[in-house]
Amino acid sequence: MNNKIVLSVKNLNKIYNKNINALKNLNLEVNEGEIFGLLGPNGAGKSTFINILAGLTTKTSGDINVWGFNLDKNPRQVRASLGIVPQEVNVDPFFTPKKLLELQAGLYGVKKKDRITETILDLVALKEKANSYTRNLSGGMQRRLLIAKALVHKPPIVILDEPTAGVDVELRKKLLDSVKSLRDIGVTIILTTHYLSEAEEMCDRIGIINKGNLIALETTDNMLKKIQTKILKFTVNKKVKLFDNLNKNLKIITNNETELVVSYEKNILNIQEIIDVIKSQKVDIFDVQSRDPDLEDVFIKLIKN
Ligand code: ADP
Repeated sequence: MNNKIVLSVKNLNKIYNKNINALKNLNLEVNEGEIFGLLGPNGAGKSTFINILAGLTTKTSGDINVWGFNLDKNPRQVRASLGIVPQEVNVDPFFTPKKLLELQAGLYGVKKKDRITETILDLVALKEKANSYTRNLSGGMQRRLLIAKALVHKPPIVILDEPTAGVDVELRKKLLDSVKSLRDIGVTIILTTHYLSEAEEMCDRIGIINKGNLIALETTDNMLKKIQTKILKFTVNKKVKLFDNLNKNLKIITNNETELVVSYEKNILNIQEIIDVIKSQKVDIFDVQSRDPDLEDVFIKLIKN
């Protein structure tokens, strides 16, 4: 991956009326060719951020450059550099995907000979549905059509707002495959999500925002390494009594006749100490499974701090 910066955000602030401070001094950069995930719970400021980029909301202060164009000085070039995929499905049910893309291209002033309708339909796996009415497409297909619509003017950067919200597992996979195909042809992707597993699977880097503050910005790998929590599951033949000295460093998730599941901090406690306690009670351990933390754990921890 090269290090050309395609989006730079400096000291971005957004205050809505009634003094709602939705973005507080946001600073971030996105590199060419990466999938950048913007994560945060509801109300964190993700939509506000996207709406500012899309020109739907004005920022209160700060500086934004997209593909080398300044949002205040060259808003049209900024718009041309971005493909924005909204959250809500808003495609006309009486058009076919092909027709919709042609219309959208027209709106963006893309000349007939420069249109890449077929290529786009192929990319989002809708080629076979090119001439079906949109109302007959599944929910997942309609979502992919939204992605297609955002591509007609060949933007180098595509922003997806919660692309898989409310989509079932199978369609979700197809949707994410379309996003990966986009990345494979060199498009830079910014996606917002509150599904942490999705960010973990898709993103090269992740920024976490909470209440308008960027509270973490890391590669996905580093983000996962940062957390020291480990989860252990013992299959046992009777209930284990856990004494206070252990209790204070352990979080008990399940403790019954057959199973003991605990989480602990690797830097505070050693697995051997837990095993010793179990063994001292003549409890047999049939199986031990350990699990590394996922982003869910990271997220909860960061927000707590
Ligand atoms: P997210 O997309 O992460 O859920 P939003 O950007 O929608 O977060 O919201 C961030 C904050 O700004 C919230 O407190 C929300 O209530 C507020 N907000 C969003 N849009 C508006 C608006 N048009 N007017 C006033 N406040 C708003």
